[in-house]
Amino acid sequence: MSHIKDIGDDFLSLFFPRLCLACSVHLVRGEKVLCTECLLSMARTDFHLRRDNPLEQAFWGRCMIERAAAFSVYNRGSRIRKLIYALKYSGRKEIGKMLGELYGTILSESGFMHDIDIIVPVPLHPARQRKRGYNQSEYIAYGLSEATKVTVKNNIIRRIEQTDSQTKRGRYERWENVKGLFFVPEPQEVRGKHILVVDDVITTGSTMEACVNALHEAGEVKVSIVALAAAQKLTL
Ligand SMILES: [Zn+2]
Repeated sequence: MSHIKDIGDDFLSLFFPRLCLACSVHLVRGEKVLCTECLLSMARTDFHLRRDNPLEQAFWGRCMIERAAAFSVYNRGSRIRKLIYALKYSGRKEIGKMLGELYGTILSESGFMHDIDIIVPVPLHPARQRKRGYNQSEYIAYGLSEATKVTVKNNIIRRIEQTDSQTKRGRYERWENVKGLFFVPEPQEVRGKHILVVDDVITTGSTMEACVNALHEAGEVKVSIVALAAAQKLTL
């Protein structure tokens, strides 16, 4: 049966060649999303296999999380950085879905997804989402869901829209980060659940921290976090 499917895939790829997302070479049988070379050369954290990994430690004392993992390391010239750039700024939503699916498969195999009830993407700033037309983290969440069969729930965490007048009044000026900018409008949606919060990149961790704290304020929850990449300083 899988033999027939392989022949079908080979036949289809004559007309619709499948290309590596990172380097555009033709993918061969058995390869998905990324060619083997790109997959092997990508700096993987494998944090899903390590309790108390550096990314988890980066959140100690800031917010309560069960588990934290990132697929790759975000730094100058890294493949994942180029892919995330295309996902965010070139309208390539499918990149989020495909990498999410790839990572979801890896996470599932390791047991990282154990007892997680829902997947929740980090919301974009509403003005930015209107401009971009989509939230890239939502697409990563859809890919994760495809591989793990855990449901995605959008709009669980909402971002307060800062207006110009509020900014001018200086109400937010003393907040150097995004603390307090997120809230959960319907706490009953999350109570008693283990939530996996998803972002594209974790750079300082302050956005993730604010989201996690908003979930805890909503009620008794467990929270784990994942991203496609984490800044190098959070992975050492
Ligand atoms: Zn490649």
